[in-house]
Amino acid sequence: MADTPEPFDELVTHARDTRVLVVGGGIAGLVAAWECAKVGMPVTVVEASGAFGGTISGAEVDGLNLDTGVTCWSAGGAVRELVEELGLGDRVVTPRTDRTWISGLGRGGAAAPVPEQAVLGIPANPWDESARAFIGWGGAWRAYLDRLRPPLTIGKEHNLARLVGTRMGDAVLARMVAPLSVGRYGLAPEQVDVAAAAPGLSSALTRTGSLGGAVADLLVDRGRGAAVESLDGGMGQLVAALVERLTDLGAELKVDTRVSQLERAGDRWIASIDAAEPVAADVMIVAVGPAAASSLLSPFVGDAVTQMTAAAGTREIVTLVVDAPPLDPAPRGAQIYPVPGTSRASGVVHETARWEWLARVAGAGRHVLHVAFDGPEASGRGDADAATVAREEASALLGVDLDAGAVRGSHRAVFPLPLPRSALGHDARAAAVRQAVAGHSGLAAVGAWLAGSSLANVVSATREEAERVRRAALWGGPTRGE
Ligand SMILES: Cc1cc2nc3c(=O)[nH]c(=O)nc-3n(C[C@H](O)[C@H](O)[C@H](O)COP(=O)(O)OP(=O)(O)OC[C@H]3O[C@@H](n4cnc5c(N)ncnc54)[C@H](O)[C@@H]3O)c2cc1C
Repeated sequence: MADTPEPFDELVTHARDTRVLVVGGGIAGLVAAWECAKVGMPVTVVEASGAFGGTISGAEVDGLNLDTGVTCWSAGGAVRELVEELGLGDRVVTPRTDRTWISGLGRGGAAAPVPEQAVLGIPANPWDESARAFIGWGGAWRAYLDRLRPPLTIGKEHNLARLVGTRMGDAVLARMVAPLSVGRYGLAPEQVDVAAAAPGLSSALTRTGSLGGAVADLLVDRGRGAAVESLDGGMGQLVAALVERLTDLGAELKVDTRVSQLERAGDRWIASIDAAEPVAADVMIVAVGPAAASSLLSPFVGDAVTQMTAAAGTREIVTLVVDAPPLDPAPRGAQIYPVPGTSRASGVVHETARWEWLARVAGAGRHVLHVAFDGPEASGRGDADAATVAREEASALLGVDLDAGAVRGSHRAVFPLPLPRSALGHDARAAAVRQAVAGHSGLAAVGAWLAGSSLANVVSATREEAERVRRAALWGGPTRGE
């Protein structure tokens, strides 16, 4: 075989001489590191905690290896591609049920499944029995005004709360829409951008003349396939596969290594590490959560980064393994969210209802529940307290009495909760950060706080950002992503 042509020799050497430091070993950091290591760049990943994966975390509870943070991804897309590339394609699974319920309806705190014909909780037909369970006859009559009102001006409304409130009324907003946006993303409907949360809804509204009609229109085009996918055996395999690939490529992977500050020295970047020697690199990829991103990047990026990260919250997940045969028939579907203000928890995911493989390993009568709590007060409790509160809230939300003896094991973890891309103004603020970051040679920023909280957004944005900084470093191309 002929020797590599000379220009490529130079490129190979240049890649080998371009030292990359990735700060943060969550999915964003690991994917960015892999993108750079693939082309022969020497890569070091430093992770503050004792393990890689960040929010993709796991623990053994009652003898079961369980995901304790991220459990799935939006079907297909960038994550599926990554999973296939890592050789995990044959482990991909879809939920056996993904039905969502809402509880805290009316005085008795009743619960009902979200109508199948709904988008973001907005019903296509408020007269349908499944919608009336939420809003009653009065709410249905109010929502009917949607059909009578002129659509044109309102078709441009970005604020989800204003759109739903004006067209269908407060009952639909409070009992059907708010529980889903608060429960899923920790975001009130007032903060949700309709155009990002349900692309096509506004134009369908103008076309069909009503919000209900627009929802029905959107559902016609929606595929019948599963909305989410996961891995048989748990999401930890994604992290393990990335770590293995990086190790094979000679990357240096360090846990328990926290970066406290970044500096520019000549044309290199220097990372100060707690209780260790600083590390110098030609390319610095910041892949940490919102709080650390703000402190590490603001000296270079200024206010743009704090404007993005300030709104991030925290989410506490209490994983419970319970003996509860009444949960075998999945009485309240896969996940249940309360009407805001009716529960201390922000939701429960019944994981053994959702994933067949997990139900199989847990065995009949034994169930895995994730109980979520948002906000700083949630994380103020000790582990034992948290397990008790989680059990009580899960009992109420699932409508099944779980006494203290039913709990076989529990685990508690607190994660940063960045805003989703559907938060009003998110993309404009992210573009400002990206532009400011790209103005510094060899600097890159990735992660959910910038891409929007979801694996799909994080993986695709990380690949783009890694490609930008890699191209700039190797080819001297533009640092800005034009
Ligand atoms: C509870 C919860 C569940 C979720 N479930 C899903 C789901 O099922 N599906 C989905 O698509 N999305 C989910 N998300 C969204 C998810 O957060 C993101 O999609 C993604 O996992 C975040 O990855 P990341 O790498 O950006 O950040 P993180 O996972 O937060 O990783 C950042 C890493 O940086 C490290 N770090 C922080 N500071 C420093 C420092 N100074 N020096 C070195 N290292 C540092 C941290 O220890 C951490 O490991 C969930 C989010 C939460 C909070």
